[in-house]
Amino acid sequence: MTTRFMILVGVIVAALLGLGAWLYGPWFWGPLVVLLGLMGLVEGIKWLLRPRAEKPPAKPPQPPPIPLEELRGLFEFLDRPDPPECTHALKETEGFLKSRNLPVAPTVEWLKANGGFCDCEVIMNVADGWGDKVGWVPTDEGDGPR
Ligand SMILES: [Zn+2]
Repeated sequence: MTTRFMILVGVIVAALLGLGAWLYGPWFWGPLVVLLGLMGLVEGIKWLLRPRAEKPPAKPPQPPPIPLEELRGLFEFLDRPDPPECTHALKETEGFLKSRNLPVAPTVEWLKANGGFCDCEVIMNVADGWGDKVGWVPTDEGDGPR
């Protein structure tokens, strides 16, 4: 919107300057002013007719490249009691994927797209949005008997 608005203002200013030149300057300014005026008019109409409050359509969440049961398995694996300290990498995640013969690269890409840049973020961010969808219950939030 701002770019178009600036073009509109620029065209109007140029048209006003051209109008002055037309009145007080050489003949060829006339057609130029008409041209500028028409451009301004077209931009103005476009600007007025633009769709308002147009939001880019929300991207639907991409499904993971591995079956949902495997994703739940990954959450369970990463959330197991006494997991190793997070190394700020997807080491545990990759180990899990390899041990199950699951595609590592596309899954890692998908996890990162969902905010999981390391093992603990997979639990923090990815499981936050996908836990419900895969039927995963965090061990410390379950309300069943311990
Ligand atoms: Zn981490």
